[in-house]
Amino acid sequence: MQKFDLIIIGAGRASNIAAKAGKLGKKVAIIEKSKLGGTCPNRGCVPSKLLIGYAQKIREIKDSKKYFIRAIIDDIDQEKIFEQTNEYISKVEKNYENKFNENVTVFKAEGSFLENKIIEVNNTKITAPIIIIATGTRPAKVPFENAWTSDDIFPLTKKIPDSITIVGAGFIACELANFFDAIGVKTTQLVRGDTLLENEDEDISEIFKEQYCKNVEVKFNTTIKKAKLKNDSFEMILDDEKIHTSDALLYAIGRVSNADTLKLENTDIKTDKRGFIKRDKYFQTNVEGIYVVGDASGEHMLQHAAAYEMNHLSKFLFEDEKKALEFKYMPHAVFSYPEIASVGLTEKRAKELNINYVTSTTSWLASAKAQALKIKYPKTKFILNPETYEILGCHLIGYESATLIHQVLAIMHLQNDIRNLKEMLYIHPALSEALLPAAVEAVKVIQEYKESQK
Ligand SMILES: Cc1cc2nc3c(=O)[nH]c(=O)nc-3n(C[C@H](O)[C@H](O)[C@H](O)COP(=O)(O)OP(=O)(O)OC[C@H]3O[C@@H](n4cnc5c(N)ncnc54)[C@H](O)[C@@H]3O)c2cc1C
Repeated sequence: MQKFDLIIIGAGRASNIAAKAGKLGKKVAIIEKSKLGGTCPNRGCVPSKLLIGYAQKIREIKDSKKYFIRAIIDDIDQEKIFEQTNEYISKVEKNYENKFNENVTVFKAEGSFLENKIIEVNNTKITAPIIIIATGTRPAKVPFENAWTSDDIFPLTKKIPDSITIVGAGFIACELANFFDAIGVKTTQLVRGDTLLENEDEDISEIFKEQYCKNVEVKFNTTIKKAKLKNDSFEMILDDEKIHTSDALLYAIGRVSNADTLKLENTDIKTDKRGFIKRDKYFQTNVEGIYVVGDASGEHMLQHAAAYEMNHLSKFLFEDEKKALEFKYMPHAVFSYPEIASVGLTEKRAKELNINYVTSTTSWLASAKAQALKIKYPKTKFILNPETYEILGCHLIGYESATLIHQVLAIMHLQNDIRNLKEMLYIHPALSEALLPAAVEAVKVIQEYKESQK
């Protein structure tokens, strides 16, 4: 049996813990069955946003008639787009290997438990007093043979399709369908219900749906009954018995836990109903010394959450900062067209929680820079506690929303009071200034509420 100070299963964000522990002189084993770096740089956030960059430019060129410019896109070199993205992916693993010093042993294989503190990898038994499970998720299984998931396009090694059907209504489906449509692949998105991005605030997802469907063809209330690859083309029978065809079929219908690969039945580690590993507020599973971090916990499923957790856990383990981590606010964005950014409660959630709240929704158009974008729909919606002025939720839709929301996040983190967003000085007429009238309006709404209570 090989003995280590620390064993990590899954080399996504947890690679950083391995690198840090190695530098501190700990004897570390890190086990990875696929590529070092995990989902984000190899087949997730980074390559998908590299693709979105192309889509964004193309959409802007297509919108240029608003600026009295007649622009014609002569050619989109789809091969080059994928070649560059594939090239980025091909370098990830090497970069991660270079993070580790001689104290870190990398096992490139699937690891699983033989008992609580004993792991088997490559027919070798290894043990350590501290084990970190950071095994993340994988795409839900596709229901038809030869259909793709997002993993099949990062890297894309098959022929670029002339047409694609994308099934799903979440952020991955909406980012990828926007990309394929923008670069000229005939794209159809199939959605089981009649909503896109149903976890967003309803007002925001409604605006999104209206704008997004101007570009991407979406068939709502539609599912595929049967699908078969025939002569390099998928023939699909939809639930209304109509036949639909496209070269490729990609499912983006959610992600499932990788915990089923760990043989947890040999341990006392418990999972929840969805198969994600349970943990306490110190990230510890119900077995002492075995921790779970990142997507493997099924909690936030975002790269920035995973990175923050890993950083916290390594301080907890190696710098003796025995604090529990409770995220105050967890922001996220949808990098589609339009772009969305959001933090905190949606109005629906505030209703479910039965809390006292008020809302204010404001257009960005008071800002000259926003007007210069020549789009009318951008909005800011606040959900607020009318007793304390606390921002409970903020939802943005419009150009660079994911960047703009950071000024709201800063206020929420430092001293959460909407009046701070109203009182600060903005550069006129920067796009950020679009949040000033939103804050002014929000404070007004609260004051009207207070008046009404007298
Ligand atoms: C297409 C796409 C786009 C995304 N875009 C964004 C975005 O814009 N912003 C954002 O915040 N998040 C985004 N995400 C989510 C983000 O990628 C994840 O939240 C993040 O990568 C989670 O990191 P992790 O380390 O917990 O898990 P992972 O990065 O998934 O790492 C887990 C690793 O464990 C390995 N593993 C699993 N089981 C075993 C085993 N038994 N033995 C050995 N190894 C094992 C896996 O191979 C994997 O490499 C996106 C995801 C996808 C798929």
